[in-house]
This record gives sequence, structure tokens and C-alpha cells, in this order.
Amino acid sequence: MRVVDLRSDTVTMPTPQMREAIYHAAVGDDVYGEDPTINELEELGARLTGKEASLFVTSGTMGNQLAVLSHTQRGDEVICETESHIFYYEAAGIAVLSGVQARTLTGDRGILSAEQIASVIRTEDIHQPPTTMLCLENTHNRAGGTCYPLSTLASIYELSKKNNIHVHMDGARVFNAAVKQNVSIDKISCYSDSVTFCLSKGLCAPVGSLVAGSKKFIEKCRRQRKLLGGGMRQAGFLAAAGIVALNSMVEQLYIDHENARLLADGLANMAIAFDADTVETNIVIIDTLPLGQTAAQLSHKLAEKGIKVSQFGEHKIRMVTHYGITADDVNYTINELSSIVKG
Ligand SMILES: *Cc1c(COP(=O)(O)O)cnc(C)c1O
Repeated sequence: MRVVDLRSDTVTMPTPQMREAIYHAAVGDDVYGEDPTINELEELGARLTGKEASLFVTSGTMGNQLAVLSHTQRGDEVICETESHIFYYEAAGIAVLSGVQARTLTGDRGILSAEQIASVIRTEDIHQPPTTMLCLENTHNRAGGTCYPLSTLASIYELSKKNNIHVHMDGARVFNAAVKQNVSIDKISCYSDSVTFCLSKGLCAPVGSLVAGSKKFIEKCRRQRKLLGGGMRQAGFLAAAGIVALNSMVEQLYIDHENARLLADGLANMAIAFDADTVETNIVIIDTLPLGQTAAQLSHKLAEKGIKVSQFGEHKIRMVTHYGITADDVNYTINELSSIVKG
């Protein structure tokens, strides 16, 4: 049976060019700083984000957690979005590892405004935790791949600097935002002190993320990475795929966006109260309630047709387009969905 795996862009496989690069990679012991391929990837990550340095980490989660560990002290307060990955999906890591408290704000489709943030910044008062960090998610996963407008980022950054707040961007899919907004990622990352991004999602590398920021920040992250057991040895094999990801997989992300849009238009045509304009990048989230189904029921019916999706709540499913998904796969999905809806 045909399989269309729309669960996530993490299911992407390394490309033939990556497998070649992995085979030929020069490697060394990265804990000694002697893996030339890791060093090359980290320099590339710094250059692309316009930061002084970057660090290769096992996952986006580790990158985010290192950022919180490095930017905060126990007892601080960190502002984050209610449905953000850092708050929602990281096993309470910021509380467990950094001993900080989250102050959540609900964004407009995941996007926070400077006014909203200003309203929750703490004042000097022994009763209150100091607000020392703000996390922004770009693109926002649970909100359906939404992007921060650059002007919003600029005003948030200005506000944060005035209040001595470190800004971290969870840019797991920041390249999707950059492609959508037709800018290089440094035009986005310049509005945050640190940024993480995943090599292993739409960019197809098998493993790993980068966290980027100032030299001093990355030095702290390197120590914390060791503490968490993330100091790797001949990890250049992984970095080799990451270099290919950054050099040759960014430009094709627009195809994933086109396919998501194709899917969105198909859904809108089914008259299920779906607004295709809400789809900005490669994530499509649908409300299954107007279809008279729970997420579990609909995803089960789709699975019978070989279409895999993620349940994102009682009545929400998420579908993500990626390198392994063609326009033909999307048309197949639309047709099957349409038959299910017609019953
Ligand atoms: C995927 C993702 C991460 C990190 O995920 P890992 O599986 O730990 O690499 C972080 N933030 C967002 C928004 C994500 O989508």
C-alpha cells in the first residue's frame, strides 16, 4: 500500500549526497575540539545566523534547554508562549534543569506582541522572580507553522534589551520562516541573543541541531552540554550531513510550502470551514469537529489508506509536508480525505 507520512518533517531520510558526505567525513574527538567536520559545521552555523559561535547538539530540545541553562539563574522567570515547544513538549525541562518558572502568554496564532510581553515583565520587588529571559518560537509548531513578522521581532527585541531580558528563539524551523519571508536567516536571528535550529527536520539531516549566540554564551552551553552527557566524540559523521543540509537543502523548502498550500486549498474546497490563508509554511492543522469526527477517528480512517498524521488534541490533527512528500501524495491525501468526509 502507498504510504504518505505526514506526521512530521522529522521522518525525512538523509539524501544520497548526505550519505556520501557521511562516508567521506574527516572526524576526530569533538570533546577535545578535534573534529574538523564538527568545527566546520559550527562555523557555518555561526556565519549563517550572524552570531559569534554555534554548537552542535543532539536535538532541538537540548539546544533550547542549554539556552535556558546559560541565560538564567535558579528562581528566574522565563516568558514563553502557552503552546510553545519549550513549555509544552520538553518534559518540564526548564523547571527541572534550570530551576526557573515559566510565565506563559498566549499569542495570536502563536505570535506574541511587544505589548503583551511588556505587560508581564516583573518589577524590582523581593516578592517577585526577576524576568530574565524570553523565548519565541519561529515558526510556531502547534499554531500551524506561523512566522513572526520581522517588525514584531524588532519591537520585541528593543523592549527586551531595555529590560535586560535575554531573547532566545526556538527556531527549530526558522529556515522555513526565512524561505517564506524571502530573507536570509540572519535577518531573523539578529532580533534574538540566541537561536536554535534543527538540521533533522525539513533539512533532512539524520540527527542534530545547532544553538548559536555570543562566544561567551556558547562557552557556557558547551559546559552545560557536557553536564547533560551531550559531549560527543567522532560526531563529524553527523555534522557532515548537517553541512549538506545547510548548503543544499534550504532552497527546496519552498516546495514543502507549496505542497502544504496545495493541501490547504484542497481542504478549503471541501467546505469544512478551513481557511487556507492560515497556512504559511509546511504545517497544516485541521479541526476535525466540523467533520463530525474526533482526531482519533479521522486519523484511524486515514491510516487505513496509508496516510499517517499526528493527533494534536481531541479534535485537531497536524499534517506536515516535507522532502518525502510530493504534490501527487498531497492530491492522493485530498481525495481520500474527501471520500471520508462524504462518508
Ligand atoms: C522539533 C522541535 C524542537 C526540537 O525537537 P527535537 O526533537 O528535540 O529535535 C524544538 N522546537 C520546536 C518548535 C520543534 O518543532
